[in-house]
Amino acid sequence: MARVVIAGMGFGGLRAAKGLAGSGLEVLLLDQYNYHLFHPLLYQVATASVEQENIAYPIRAIFRSWRNVRFRLARVEGVDLGTNRVLTDSGPIDYDYLVLSVGSASEFYGLDAVRRIAHTLKDMDDAVDLRNQILSCFERASIEPDPAKRAALLTFVIVGGGPTGVEFSGALAELVRHALRKDYPELERDSVRIVLVEALPNLLPLFSNSLREYARHRLERLGVKVRTGQPVVEARPDGVVLRDGTEIAAYTLFWAAGVRAAPLTETLPGAKDRVGRLIVRPDLRHPDYDNVFVIGDMAHVEQGGKVLPMLAPVAMQEGAYVAAAILAQESGREMAPFRYRDKGQMAIIGRNAAVAHAFGIQMRGFLAWLAWLALHLYYLIGFRNRLFALLNWAYAYLLLDPKLRLITRPLPKPGSEGNEEVVKGGERR
Ligand SMILES: Cc1cc2nc3c(=O)[nH]c(=O)nc-3n(C[C@H](O)[C@H](O)[C@H](O)COP(=O)(O)OP(=O)(O)OC[C@H]3O[C@@H](n4cnc5c(N)ncnc54)[C@H](O)[C@@H]3O)c2cc1C
Repeated sequence: MARVVIAGMGFGGLRAAKGLAGSGLEVLLLDQYNYHLFHPLLYQVATASVEQENIAYPIRAIFRSWRNVRFRLARVEGVDLGTNRVLTDSGPIDYDYLVLSVGSASEFYGLDAVRRIAHTLKDMDDAVDLRNQILSCFERASIEPDPAKRAALLTFVIVGGGPTGVEFSGALAELVRHALRKDYPELERDSVRIVLVEALPNLLPLFSNSLREYARHRLERLGVKVRTGQPVVEARPDGVVLRDGTEIAAYTLFWAAGVRAAPLTETLPGAKDRVGRLIVRPDLRHPDYDNVFVIGDMAHVEQGGKVLPMLAPVAMQEGAYVAAAILAQESGREMAPFRYRDKGQMAIIGRNAAVAHAFGIQMRGFLAWLAWLALHLYYLIGFRNRLFALLNWAYAYLLLDPKLRLITRPLPKPGSEGNEEVVKGGERR
């Protein structure tokens, strides 16, 4: 029986595994964590709207009814393509077919200080770190006598005007407006500043002009200061500098400005694109190895002269295709090249508002928000997760007061030069 190893149980790997469950092949799933994570809702964990358990689901539980599918908790460190072996921290694993889908990492464009200081949002720890950071800044500000330091503690700089930056800014503004202002009566009402910085002239580059304008207008109504056309050129623990020389004093820098293929991609032979993705064949195989597929955020795939974006639906459709391609090869059938069906995109901007374009239709406002909610609940794995996520939202929506505002790691000791220690958990890792 041929053995398929799927490395990475994100959106792409999970779809590939589902496509092979119940087939006559032996399927071994690998991931560094034992759960599948729903990235699009990470920002809601970071802004205390959803519990972390509600956006993840154990991989073993997903596949327990399938006897041909096994899971191993392992970090993939390399691939020996010549001998068909995946090299992991729990030893080498042989394969007949390999599907690589370990996703992406943050891109810092050579800004080392940003890499060290900034918070990112790629996994569960990042989201919990960011939530701790935001809430810790409020705690420290509430006892900080120096007005300049207090202002910097209450200034949150978000870099990157794509969906993650926009969604996070809106959710943070709502959290401040509806919950944190009530929790901290000792702080002045308008002392919190949320600044969204984008290097390009507009937010949401993949959306139409009118939807971009609407998103900007909604964010500004929520009190978010939007600075477009201004890349960050320098970062310190207590602030950032923009290209025009503007300095923003802030102890929290959230970086959502760039993504590149996971570091494992660099170790593979073959041409890569500007953001490190491997340029695969039209049937998603490695250029030199017929039995190795590379999908999702690791893969550069062109269609109609455009490169497919690093998005969950792309990874999912590629995963489904690869499963079908392996089954076809096993039964001696030919497969047509991969074709992506673009069903559109969405971004939420706080409570009651979102922008969406799907099947040629543009939507904004409450209707788009409802569509966003329905779609994300549909894709959240597992009935329990959908139910609890919905209950959390309903609670936060109706009472305007999410109750998940927990700081889960201790604050620096009073008296230690505290404020600089409030910066990124990553500095301590
Ligand atoms: C905060 C955030 C919000 C997003 N919002 C949206 C959105 O609203 N809509 C949308 O379409 N897309 C969104 N995306 C993008 C989307 O999540 C990715 O395009 C998609 O997850 C890519 O799927 P993938 O299978 O390539 O990788 P992933 O889904 O990232 O999965 C990679 C898997 O590989 C595992 N892994 C990584 N390295 C190793 C290793 N060395 N060894 C073993 N396992 C490893 C990881 O644990 C993970 O399970 C968002 C991304 C982020 C970070």
